[in-house]
Amino acid sequence: MTTPAYGAHAADKKLEPMQIARRSPGPQDVQIDIAFCGVCHSDLHQVRSEWGGTLYPCVPGHEIVGEVSAVGGAVTRFSVGDTVGVGCMVDSCQECPSCREGEEQYCTGGGFVGTYNGPTDDAPGHTLGGYSQRIVVDENFVVAIRHPHDQLAAVAPLLCAGITTYSPLRHWKVGPGKKVGIVGIGGLGHMGIKIAHAMGAHVVAFTTSESKREDAAKLGADEVINSRNAEEVESHANSFDFILDTVAASHDLDALTALLKRDGTLTLVGVPEHPHPSPDVGNLIFRRRAIAGSLIGGIAETQEMLDFCAEHAIVADIEMIPIQQIDEAYDRMQRSDVKYRFVIDNSTLAS
Ligand code: NAP
Ligand code: ZN
Repeated sequence: MTTPAYGAHAADKKLEPMQIARRSPGPQDVQIDIAFCGVCHSDLHQVRSEWGGTLYPCVPGHEIVGEVSAVGGAVTRFSVGDTVGVGCMVDSCQECPSCREGEEQYCTGGGFVGTYNGPTDDAPGHTLGGYSQRIVVDENFVVAIRHPHDQLAAVAPLLCAGITTYSPLRHWKVGPGKKVGIVGIGGLGHMGIKIAHAMGAHVVAFTTSESKREDAAKLGADEVINSRNAEEVESHANSFDFILDTVAASHDLDALTALLKRDGTLTLVGVPEHPHPSPDVGNLIFRRRAIAGSLIGGIAETQEMLDFCAEHAIVADIEMIPIQQIDEAYDRMQRSDVKYRFVIDNSTLAS
């Protein structure tokens, strides 16, 4: 079966229409007609091979929502007509300790299979993502969406931006009485603010864009700091329990670790093209501070996050685009000019 898609043939080429193959659903597979797909900064990093190792053609997209249009004979959790989502993973070994604990993203049995650029037996030998009309995924990597149907487009970004911020906020036990920083107000950061606020924390947003100051407060930040204003930043020294850094470019980490209390943690989720300058170890040692990383979240936790967001009426703030505007969207995302997630209307793939 072929399906219309948008992808790139090389790192220096623009995305263009293409037809891609999808397998017929196997016994455990769910076939999904994609309604919307969010545009993550990882899509841009990967299409342009900023991390190296991109396989072409590259069809990005891992914030997928849509409707089940067929299921395999052994599928038990989904039926035709269900509204579902697919995030950053479509498979893993399902046997290693991480997979058994529901942390498939940390699979040690060969690693998880990404929704795009991952290994697969399907043509062309690597996975192709959600900038397409249809996808076929093992039911174990499909999640149920329980938000009101008219919010579906704004739910799409939860599948990556939502879980990538929810998972570390949960892991480091963010909640009432905790002072939490969210650095970078883009796709991930704006979800981080909403979720940390809903968890009951005191939320401080850090932005390099003065124009986002008012928005940050509306998103749920109790305080907003311009990260380029050293005085404003330093006035919060030694006061944070936890800081989540979503910035997509390399930057100085010492200014942030200095804001942590004793035993506080700075967790990085941004994966910039170029490495951050080495952090000052003394800054960590003298207050037992930590720098950590975090990768998306497991499938069960993704469902938990979606249900948490449905319960708290949380969706992303989006700008809907037809697929034909994807290059312009990438350029604007590169300039931190998106409020706060582009979402593709996948019906435009047909035009
Ligand atoms: P995004 O929408 O482009 O947001 C990134 C934000 O970082 C920008 O809006 C901007 O916020 C800030 N920023 C950008 N350039 C900056 C610079 N030079 N200095 C300081 N701040 C800067 O990107 P995203 O989709 O949220 O993704 C963020 C990063 O997370 C990407 O590297 C992406 O690949 C990565 N990611 C990681 C995971 C994971 O599992 N760990 C999952 C998804 C994505 P302000 O305007 O507020 O400063
Ligand atoms: Zn992503």
